[in-house]
Amino acid sequence: MIFKTFSLTKNNGEIVQRMSKPKRKRKNRQSEDQGVDEIPRLPKTKPLQLRYYGDPILRKRAEPVQEITDIETKLAREMLMTLYATNGIGLAATQVGVLKRFLIVDIDPEDADYEPIMLFNPEILSVEGESVAEEGCLSIPDLRADVKRPEKIVVKAMNDYGEDIQIEADGLLARVIQHEIDHLNGTLFIDRISGLKRQLLRSELEKIQQADRPL
Ligand code: ZN
Repeated sequence: MIFKTFSLTKNNGEIVQRMSKPKRKRKNRQSEDQGVDEIPRLPKTKPLQLRYYGDPILRKRAEPVQEITDIETKLAREMLMTLYATNGIGLAATQVGVLKRFLIVDIDPEDADYEPIMLFNPEILSVEGESVAEEGCLSIPDLRADVKRPEKIVVKAMNDYGEDIQIEADGLLARVIQHEIDHLNGTLFIDRISGLKRQLLRSELEKIQQADRPL
């Protein structure tokens, strides 16, 4: 898949191989947090409560993160647990009620060779091309729609080690990163579909908004 071709570049131009991080081995993603436990930097914790469409926090702009402290490390761990527990491929801190500019992406959780991507203060530096693909969102359950986005992006961010990095991504990875950055700006994928199509989805959106969900 395309996403495997991306590279991380430090400010000095040095290419950082993702494989340099400790490998996770999650043979069975259903089996709770096995594997994530193998990242010793991340303390054990539980999944967080997701915020759903209609929650005003999803419309707020998240604040930049100044440095990676134990609080951010714990948040990273909790969000990973939440991502895997919900079978998602990307999650923004806003979606768990934390207004910090932080997102995680793992578009191939079955592949132990690739670490999840954790980006603090992600910023899109450049975009290229255009593609349309169907998207969904953990915060808007059971609703999917085609969204047009740039095909290829270059993003700068701080990684979970506090290092400045750049990521070149295309395909699904680029799409998920853009979707999650949107969350940090209070934007949802349904904002990016045409007005007519959104009208058609309105009753479904109302149902999602009114659904009773366990806390
Ligand atoms: Zn989403």
